[in-house]
Amino acid sequence: SIIKELVENSIDAGSTKIEVFIENGGIDSIIVKDNGFGIKSEQISLAFTKHATSKISELKDLDSIQTLGFRGEALTSIGNISHTTISTSTDSEEAYEATIKEGKVSKIKLSVRPRGTSIIVKKLFENFPARKKFIKSPESEQIAITKIMKYFFLSHPEIVFIYSNKNKKIYHLNSNTLEGRILDIFGSSYKDSLVEVSKEKENYSINGYIGNLDIVKKRTGEQFLFINKRFISSKMINHTIYRSYSNLLQRGEYPFFVLNLNIDPSLFDINVHPSKKEIRFKEEWKINQFLKDS
Ligand code: ADP
Ligand code: MG
Repeated sequence: SIIKELVENSIDAGSTKIEVFIENGGIDSIIVKDNGFGIKSEQISLAFTKHATSKISELKDLDSIQTLGFRGEALTSIGNISHTTISTSTDSEEAYEATIKEGKVSKIKLSVRPRGTSIIVKKLFENFPARKKFIKSPESEQIAITKIMKYFFLSHPEIVFIYSNKNKKIYHLNSNTLEGRILDIFGSSYKDSLVEVSKEKENYSINGYIGNLDIVKKRTGEQFLFINKRFISSKMINHTIYRSYSNLLQRGEYPFFVLNLNIDPSLFDINVHPSKKEIRFKEEWKINQFLKDS
């Protein structure tokens, strides 16, 4: 969850390159470094304050959200449960650094770095032994992180991503088209198995790729659905997609897909759960029909 929130912030900051570094499945250390627009020195403490966000300023903005974040909860929560260090620069001329322990932001110091922001998270749950017990093994944590990273790789193929752990680079992905990014991740053998999907109608548009029967798998894990570039889990949409394959697939077979649905933010509600993975649509049947047609 920490990595998801930090990478979302980096994307919201307009970054073209994001680096994620973990040690011991993120338990010993997490570093997320970007080249986005940074935070002004006088706003660093504010960013770690509960419910502080720069992404909405009026209630009605909730209807037109284009950013991944808007609840202003991530940095404050992370600052409360770890030792966090932030270094940030809005113009690469002046850079600032602060540490956050038990939610308290230290004095802001001058620092040196190019434009962008780095957040280092260590000593996770040090003062929360009851929570610490729920961290899984480093191996399982790394698997979970890699899974989340794949969603970002595919929702933002134009962004350069470097993802590594202490011992090695796991992914180094250059800016690419969506098709190129899919091949970078799943291998060039997918090239001839991808079918492009691209359609637009009234308030909706969809683009991406679905796999043909050569890359059907016996288990789930290669289904990537985004709404306005945000990873979403929607039983309804998954069901609609599986149904389109229903005469072709056998029970227990799952097709590959990477699809991004663009919908006007006023036509759905993402503020159902803090994780923002659940979604409520205003006109569910219309979306279903649109997907079926596509
Ligand atoms: P939210 O993303 O919901 O606004 P967060 O707690 O994740 O809340 O972040 C708080 C604020 O800190 C953001 O609104 C943004 O202004 C700033 N911020 C966080 N991370 C970054 C970053 N990587 N680059 C620039 N600004 C950032
Ligand atoms: Mg955020």
